[in-house]
Amino acid sequence: MKFGGTSLADAQRIAGVCKIVGSRSGDEVVVVVSALAGVTDMLFSQAQKISEGKLTEEEIKSFISELFERHRVVARELLSEKDLELVLMELERFSLELEKILIGIRYVGELTPRSTAYVVSFGERLSAPIVSGALNTCGVKSVWFTGYDAGIITDSRYEKASPIWESTMQTVKQRLENLLKDSVPVVTGFISGDTLGRITTLGRGGSDYTAAIVGAAIDAEEVWIWTDVDGIMTTDPRLVSEAQTIPVISYIEAMELAFFGGKVLHPKSIEPAMEKGVPVRVKNTFNPDGPGTLIVKDQEKAREVVKAVSVMTHATLVTISGVGMIGVPGVAAKTFSALAEEKINILMISQGSSEANISIVIESQDLDKAINIVTEKFADRDIVRRVDYNNDVAIIAVIGAGMKGTKGVAARLFTSVSKADVNVLMIAQGSSEVNISCVVEEKDAKKAAQALHHEFITKKA
Ligand code: ASP
Ligand code: MG
Repeated sequence: MKFGGTSLADAQRIAGVCKIVGSRSGDEVVVVVSALAGVTDMLFSQAQKISEGKLTEEEIKSFISELFERHRVVARELLSEKDLELVLMELERFSLELEKILIGIRYVGELTPRSTAYVVSFGERLSAPIVSGALNTCGVKSVWFTGYDAGIITDSRYEKASPIWESTMQTVKQRLENLLKDSVPVVTGFISGDTLGRITTLGRGGSDYTAAIVGAAIDAEEVWIWTDVDGIMTTDPRLVSEAQTIPVISYIEAMELAFFGGKVLHPKSIEPAMEKGVPVRVKNTFNPDGPGTLIVKDQEKAREVVKAVSVMTHATLVTISGVGMIGVPGVAAKTFSALAEEKINILMISQGSSEANISIVIESQDLDKAINIVTEKFADRDIVRRVDYNNDVAIIAVIGAGMKGTKGVAARLFTSVSKADVNVLMIAQGSSEVNISCVVEEKDAKKAAQALHHEFITKKA
């Protein structure tokens, strides 16, 4: 079995955590941890395979023993004998628990959202005791909690749960506040529990969200998100070599950016911080002295009109048309509710004022389902006559709160895209004016992003 990271890299990262926490001895600190690199993915895919009967009991046991050995190696590397003993006992207990669950899944041959959440929760449940133990070893008193034990209570959407806000805020504060005075609690990111105490998770990448929730609950001065890049970037560096780290950005811009595929932050993680006005700092574990990106409420001195250019590929443009749609109320509603019924996420919408067509952009993976449901709902064809699609498109969005009320941004956008010889298929600007998005052929995405980045970001620098 191959894991995404080695035990040495894991140990180095955790040693880094101890160093950072150790250097803040005057401050009250809560640490929120994610799983070791690649572990969550591995748990997801193994659970899936096991439910399909593809692993024997022996194979399940050997997967578990490798997974735990990786964690034990890290623990042995970092923990004193006394702290190690305790952590190894906890790991042992979890290993038996995980084995029972996985073998159970093999027997029933079924993987429900609830059992999935349970299985993947082990990623963080294994890393948290090690981090907490490592802190104790380096002289920082620490205890660890699952997100649920720390007070994060959610609805029962097991794989993408939402916190029940008021009770979460109160409970987290109650549970952590006193401990903070003389110790550093370590809380598992990503994991939470519903009102009946059943394990739920906050969606992939949810540790950031946990950090923001905890930060809001305890009225933190700042939330620091540690990743492996230098912060939030002006665009995707794989597409545009001129990409830079953004030093300061506002909540609203960061939220737009997270939504439009800037993979650095979990899209929901800004919300709790925003509510309480807690600044969020995104920093690089491998470059801790670098400034990273600071996310704040208002950015008074912002000079830039556009902060970032985001690119979202693997999208499909679906156009629903028919002269019969003109002046007929409810076509959009019917389309959207049909898509919602199939749980298809709409990325962009546009309707011209002639009302003879509606264009929507969805993820390409949802195309078949979308076409089927829309043609089914408009089967009589007297309103909608055609459903066309182009499944090789990309959404390019320019993002910046400074666009609000600034004239000429759209003109500059279209001029530079057309100079790059790129055809624009669809356009949308939300009335918040924080982003303007356009859809282009996927093959043109790189050219368009380069042109826009140059026009709005590099040129001025
Ligand atoms: N371990 C979880 C995941 O991989 C949560 C996180 O990393 O933020 O999605
Ligand atoms: Mg992660």
